[in-house]
Amino acid sequence: MRIAVIGIGLIGGSVALAARERLGATVSGHDRSEQALATALARGALDRACDSVADALTGAEVAFVSVPVGRLPDVVGEVLRHAPETCVVTDVGSTKRAVMAAHNDPRFVGGHPLAGAETSGVEHARADLFEGATWYLTPSSSTSGVLYERLYRLLHGLGAQPTAIDPQTHDRMLAAVSHLPHVLANVLVSQAAGTLAAGGERLPATGPSFRDATRVAGAPSAIWTDIYVSNRDALTAEIDGTIARLEQVRDALAAADVGRISAWNDAAAEDRHRLLEVQLAGGELFELRASVPNQPGVIAQLALELGRAGVNIADMALYPAADMSEGVVALWVAGDLAARRAEELVGGLGFPVARA
Ligand code: NAP
Repeated sequence: MRIAVIGIGLIGGSVALAARERLGATVSGHDRSEQALATALARGALDRACDSVADALTGAEVAFVSVPVGRLPDVVGEVLRHAPETCVVTDVGSTKRAVMAAHNDPRFVGGHPLAGAETSGVEHARADLFEGATWYLTPSSSTSGVLYERLYRLLHGLGAQPTAIDPQTHDRMLAAVSHLPHVLANVLVSQAAGTLAAGGERLPATGPSFRDATRVAGAPSAIWTDIYVSNRDALTAEIDGTIARLEQVRDALAAADVGRISAWNDAAAEDRHRLLEVQLAGGELFELRASVPNQPGVIAQLALELGRAGVNIADMALYPAADMSEGVVALWVAGDLAARRAEELVGGLGFPVARA
């Protein structure tokens, strides 16, 4: 498998390392930073360091674009101009609406691994970064099914769990569970620093609550400024909601309303338990076979329908008919209940489906 990686930082470098080490892939890379390319070569992340996007894409079967979010629309465009007709192109950006709105090419599938670190740069890249991580994919209605399946298998091979989602849901959800926590971590450290400075105190040996709640404070600006700005509408809505909740707590405290404070605290414990409850996908794997017409977007439609309903596709395979007019999609789903739900959903889309 020949892979091209454009932008060899923490994420691009980790993709390159994992693809070489776990899959024996041949990886060509391009970065605007010569230092990043030299470090990537020294760390064994690349077979070939290239001085242009076009060079890196020669003969590529899969291309990853892993530059900051603000540059993604342009760089993905450049990659699509140089990528072979049979190459699947994806990105790893932390927000998805802008890059998806900019491109509607059958070879392009948006992506976002839920894995990373507070550091940046290829020197921190790790081959095991994606082990067990959800990797969101945002196929469009024109995405080629064959190329989607190739990318899906490759990400599985990197140790990740690919899951389809639409760009709007992705950005709204990530605003709440990733971008807002980063904003709040920054606010918490600034607030504590201000309070301590005003009293002339030094930082005490902080307890785990301060450390836990501020682990992501001050994440690299070169990456995070773009993320905040590109998702500003969803993020400002989350901040407005948070301000309203803070005002309620403030009022309850000011009134020493023990009942309200206690109820508020109990509700938080329940919410946290519900949110973090491990969604065990376990159970026996069931294979479903769906007959589908061979046209762009069908695989994306299936994957998104199941993703929206929270049904995880543990594995998938395509079997095109000899004349390529239609084909069979095999989907493996864990657990009888989830498999039954998947059958209903696929049938509801109008595709004949049965358990194998
Ligand atoms: P990073 O370590 O800073 O790497 C980005 C690399 O891309 C840098 O080497 C940068 O070079 C290079 N670059 C910038 N513009 C370029 C261009 N036009 N052409 C070629 N190379 C270019 O950042 P990262 O953490 O890997 O993040 C990369 C992407 O992954 C972002 O879209 C981010 O949203 C996403 N992501 C990050 C995380 C995370 O935890 N870090 C997690 C999931 C997804 P310079 O240093 O010269 O700018």
